[in-house]
Amino acid sequence: MIHHLNCASFHPPLVGSMVAHVLVVERPDGLLLVDTGFGTADVAAPQRIGRAVRALMRPKMLPEETAIAQLTALGYTADDVTDIVLTHLDVDHAGGVGDFPHARVHLDAAELEAGRHPRGAEHGRYVREQWAEADFVPHAAPPAGGDAWFGFESVTEIGDGVLLVPLPGHSRGHSMVAVRDGDGWLAHAGDAYFHPGDLTSPPSAPRTVRVVQRLLAQDDAVRLANRDRLAELVAADHPDLRVFCAHDRAEFEAFGGPAGGGTGAGFPRSTGEI
Ligand SMILES: [Zn+2]
Repeated sequence: MIHHLNCASFHPPLVGSMVAHVLVVERPDGLLLVDTGFGTADVAAPQRIGRAVRALMRPKMLPEETAIAQLTALGYTADDVTDIVLTHLDVDHAGGVGDFPHARVHLDAAELEAGRHPRGAEHGRYVREQWAEADFVPHAAPPAGGDAWFGFESVTEIGDGVLLVPLPGHSRGHSMVAVRDGDGWLAHAGDAYFHPGDLTSPPSAPRTVRVVQRLLAQDDAVRLANRDRLAELVAADHPDLRVFCAHDRAEFEAFGGPAGGGTGAGFPRSTGEI
């Protein structure tokens, strides 16, 4: 069973309503989260994420949206979370890490390096207090070649049916996280795109969304190249693969509504196949 949670609502000026899409994967030995949204410490003291981020994103900072609050409502405790996989270390993805002190925190080694030793504009984007105490497991992307996942190489298997797929550009070690769901795959693309219109040919996302993505990119040329690879993947319309990003509300709601739904009882099929 996989749950989809929104662990942070935003209202960026001129962009509209956004979510922070988090996956909760129930496994025999504990829960695995993909991303964490904001945590209780962020909600209690929003100033810790910085004035610029708050002005840009306008987060609502609702205690009931934190992953720990929603997991508690599902009957779990913090200790049930054994593993967290982060698409990257930005404040709206890593904020909840501190609420799960016993979890191993997996991410691309290049992203942890960026968080610990930021260069240039990276100095403004990471908030070390969010994850200073985390039990990190950095994964160095293997060289290209070997087993490819839907044509994507340098993939690391983190656990049974959980893959880290390098997709840098938004940040230095940004990754997609693929999770087995029944006979298919869910692919959490993080901030590799912000709007489904980013992946159409030609791209049709609103101009404001495109400008924001360019401003936030650590390497915009790399980001655009990876966005194009993702667009090709989605255009191929694999019936056993569902790709979504972190912040699009419509994609999130398609998984079961604003309260967060579950998948697992049969993989959702693309409309083209039915
Ligand atoms: Zn983000």
